[in-house]
Amino acid sequence: MMFKTPAIRLSIVLVLLTANLLFLANMIGFVPDESKSALELRKSLSESLALQFSAAAEKGEFQTIQNTLRAVVERNRDIRSAAIRTHDGELLALAGEHLAHWKAPVDGKSTSTHVHVPVFRKNENWATVEIRFAPLWTNNLTSGFANSFVGLLVFISLGGFLCYFFVIKRTLRELDPTAVIPERVQKAFDVLQEGILILDQKEQIVMANLSFADLFGKSPAAMIGLKGSELGWLDCQSPKQVSQLPWFKVLQDGQEHKDASLNLRNSHGRKIKLAVNAAMVTDNAGKCRGTLVTFDDITQLEEKNFELSDTVEKLQMANEESQAKSQELEILANCDPLTLCLNRRSLALKFDALFTQAKAGETHLSCLMVDIDFFKSVNDRYGHATGDQVIKTVADVLKTCSRDTDIVGRYGGEEFCVVLPNLDLEKAAQVAERIRNAIEKISCAGVKITVSMGVSSLKQSTNKPDELINQADKALYAAKKSGRNRVITWGKDFNSVAKVDSDAEVQEAVSQSGKSAKIDTGQAQLQRRVLELEGLLEKRTLELEHYEMYDFKTGLPTRSLFEDRIGHEIARGKRKNYLVAILSMTVDTIKRVHETLGYRAAEQL
Ligand code: GH3
Ligand code: MG
Ligand code: MG
Repeated sequence: MMFKTPAIRLSIVLVLLTANLLFLANMIGFVPDESKSALELRKSLSESLALQFSAAAEKGEFQTIQNTLRAVVERNRDIRSAAIRTHDGELLALAGEHLAHWKAPVDGKSTSTHVHVPVFRKNENWATVEIRFAPLWTNNLTSGFANSFVGLLVFISLGGFLCYFFVIKRTLRELDPTAVIPERVQKAFDVLQEGILILDQKEQIVMANLSFADLFGKSPAAMIGLKGSELGWLDCQSPKQVSQLPWFKVLQDGQEHKDASLNLRNSHGRKIKLAVNAAMVTDNAGKCRGTLVTFDDITQLEEKNFELSDTVEKLQMANEESQAKSQELEILANCDPLTLCLNRRSLALKFDALFTQAKAGETHLSCLMVDIDFFKSVNDRYGHATGDQVIKTVADVLKTCSRDTDIVGRYGGEEFCVVLPNLDLEKAAQVAERIRNAIEKISCAGVKITVSMGVSSLKQSTNKPDELINQADKALYAAKKSGRNRVITWGKDFNSVAKVDSDAEVQEAVSQSGKSAKIDTGQAQLQRRVLELEGLLEKRTLELEHYEMYDFKTGLPTRSLFEDRIGHEIARGKRKNYLVAILSMTVDTIKRVHETLGYRAAEQL
């Protein structure tokens, strides 16, 4: 078929039908023939003139003939010229440019432009009236064509075609779908919850079910003929995005398109999300005729999904938080918060385990007891915060100088215990010496510190970890007694020191009892006096150091100590997660009291 679209085919058929009807009407004579009636008119005019002139000729009124002829030519626009000519060719009357344009009919018959009628006088053919008319179609092709039947035919055919095409196209658009989609099918589609759309190849809607039309607040019939891409999809702002619409892809690739998503603002102004699937609709020959598109409102599902993922995220966070909390709790349960070394309980548990292992495997196991020398004076001189800092520094050194397999625990205030698996007494003493040396070299917050250490090691006779700790503790005590900042091992070292120590104790005991006259000499008195003075001096020094830190009058910490304490509290607060508040107070009345009641009263206040 030459013309593809049904609208053109139908229009041509209708034009042909109309043309045939026009022919028929023309043949029957329903179509008025303008040229024929014009001819008739010319003929009757010519005859009436001839009759008039015959009457005038009878009476010999030739001047009247001449005047009438001239008047007729002047008044009638159709008549160009006229003349009355006798048989012998003599001109009796003349009007217009007749002689130059008159062509005598060849066969004696009048034509539409050249009419001649005989004029009788006394029943004789006396002369002829010659009238030259304007051509029926006035020499103008368009107006002549317009006045002809062919012109009418051409006009009706062309005009008819355009009108028929326009009307049929519109009608087909609306009528076709109902022919393609029977009512029962439409009803079946309308029952579905899912939105369904059938689009033709030009993506014009051929069928929309109730669910789909509802989205736009329209009836299914009102959707027909609309373009699928012009429904206000929020994802279709550019031509490129339009070409990505699922049904376009199906029309292009000829393949099913699944799980696309489109956003739309529905008739209530609510933004909704639709899951879209599109498949090709083919004819019996398998040729693509359009697309069938389904729309699933997944807005609620998406919202639920979002809520769920939000809940999952929150749960995960809560879980992580609780894990962190339990880790923190574990650290709190097992570690000393200041030094993060094992606390005493945890140290005992781990020590027990290592002890049992060493016993069973007959391997070495050593223990160090560490105590900071003169720590009390550190507290007294520099404050507790600095004291804490010193304890922390010592713990750090202990951890740095030990292996991963060793355990470092805070045994008491400024006492630590280090357990060294697989190390004998000698090697443990070397480790202890290294630690002592390292601590001696550092200074913490400007404070020089030393430690004393006792070392013990596992032997066949040792049955409990406590015994090992006791031995190390005794060795530590011996280290203190023998001058501090040293390492004493339980065994030979300890025995020799212990001997010197007990001698000193005996000597002290004897001197205090005053029973021995031998010893209680002037020298001894002097010695006592020296000790007394030393004690006094130390007390004085301590007092002075105290007042460096505390206000003499109020006994409250001085500004530097107070700032140090604040710093310490803030650090502690951060570590233990609590807040620190500082209250600042000024006594307003102090000046007045001083002025009115005097210096003492003000001091007292
Ligand atoms: P020595 O050389 O004989 O060991 O003398 P010392 O002054 O160190 O004496 P001792 O070991 O008996 O004193 C320990 C002091 O440590 C007592 C206590 O006030 C202080 N202390 C205990 N725990 C802490 C703590 O956590 N922080 C601070 N700053 N001081 C502490
Ligand atoms: Mg101590
Ligand atoms: Mg100490």
